[in-house]
Amino acid sequence: MKEKIIIVGAGPCGLSTALYLKEAGYDPLIIDRGNIVHTIYRFPTHQTFFSTSEKLEIGNMPFVSPNSKPVRMEALSYYREVVKRNNLRIHPYEEVIDVQKESTRISVTTLKNGHQHVYEASFVVMATGYYDQPQWMGIKGEHLEKVSHYFKEAHPYFGTDVAVIGGKNSAVDAALELYHAGANVTVFYRGKDYSPSIKPWILPEFDSLVQKGEIQMHFNVNVLEIKETTMIYELDGKQYSIPNDFIFAMTGYKPNISFLEKCHIQIDKETGRPIKNDATFETNIENIYVAGVIISGYNGNETFIENGRFHGGKIAAAIIEKCKK
Ligand code: FAD
Ligand code: NAP
Repeated sequence: MKEKIIIVGAGPCGLSTALYLKEAGYDPLIIDRGNIVHTIYRFPTHQTFFSTSEKLEIGNMPFVSPNSKPVRMEALSYYREVVKRNNLRIHPYEEVIDVQKESTRISVTTLKNGHQHVYEASFVVMATGYYDQPQWMGIKGEHLEKVSHYFKEAHPYFGTDVAVIGGKNSAVDAALELYHAGANVTVFYRGKDYSPSIKPWILPEFDSLVQKGEIQMHFNVNVLEIKETTMIYELDGKQYSIPNDFIFAMTGYKPNISFLEKCHIQIDKETGRPIKNDATFETNIENIYVAGVIISGYNGNETFIENGRFHGGKIAAAIIEKCKK
């Protein structure tokens, strides 16, 4: 199967890149192992964005919301509508397992329903995000069933002892929702004080519950081990064991670096960022580009939809330029 341009990943930044390319007269194929905006689909069910709807817009299509900050469901319906109205070509539930440069073409190997397919493309944009790979703590017991790196809804945790690990937005959001659903919540954070990354309109409610002793908050904690019914941690040089039924390790996410390396894309070892030309977003492999949160490596607090949605503009300009030659 021959394609001019393939975009791997139908997240907001992959879709936005497709819209820039459409505007330039191309009709890229977008392949996603889930469905469109699969990361947003996997957010906590009742997630409110920190961005206003306007800052989540792609392809100049208005995103109007009656809320000052839109919720997950509104964003899902907005992005579905964008794809429909712009007739974007999507292959959902098809996983890209390899991308290799072969002389002048790029071969893209996928897996769908257990069958392998090979495409040939002139240009490939990798926009595979970070949400599929948690930042593992690397401690014993992290893979136990009671531990999750994703929070969905609080109801199942009513009346249970829940530990939340981490101190940024996912941790605070999850702790608040769990508390409101009647869980007994304790937060364990390695920092010495609240992180400045916590959204300023969330912190006052959280801190007030901590001050009242409704939510337990421990700073300077080093979590050492998770056992079936307890968690072992270190605080001020002493070890403690706390009983718990469930643990949410909200320790962040990172791009699939081994996949990028398999495709021979060079990665900065320290930051986890793919090496790229900052003007064009082209990687060390000619005609393979990167877009979206993947460019930030281990720092998931640098690229958002708000700014990642513009990456496609640079990529489209670079592809147009190359095609002129
Ligand atoms: P993603 O949205 O992660 O999309 C990547 C896509 O690639 C996915 O659909 C995935 O299925 C697909 N994929 C991955 N690997 C493969 C493969 N091998 N083959 C095929 N497909 C593949 N940002 C904001 O700007 N404002 C906010 O208010 C905001 N709120 C957030 C709230 C939460 C709880 C979280 C977790 C994040 C939030 N973000 C927000 C960040 C935002 O979600 C990300 O920056 C954004 O999703 C990045 O878009 P992306 O297109 O780069 O990657
Ligand atoms: P994050 O911002 O990467 O925060 C991860 C937290 O876990 C940090 O507090 C970090 O500590 C801690 N941590 C990391 N590794 C650890 C380890 N090995 N052991 C113990 N603690 C560890 O992740 P996130 O909160 O899930 O947020 C991910 C992205 O989603 C961000 O871009 C965020 O803005 C976005 N988000 C948005 C909303 C919203 O719109 N309302 C809500 C949630 C998330 P340090 O603080 O010391 O680094």
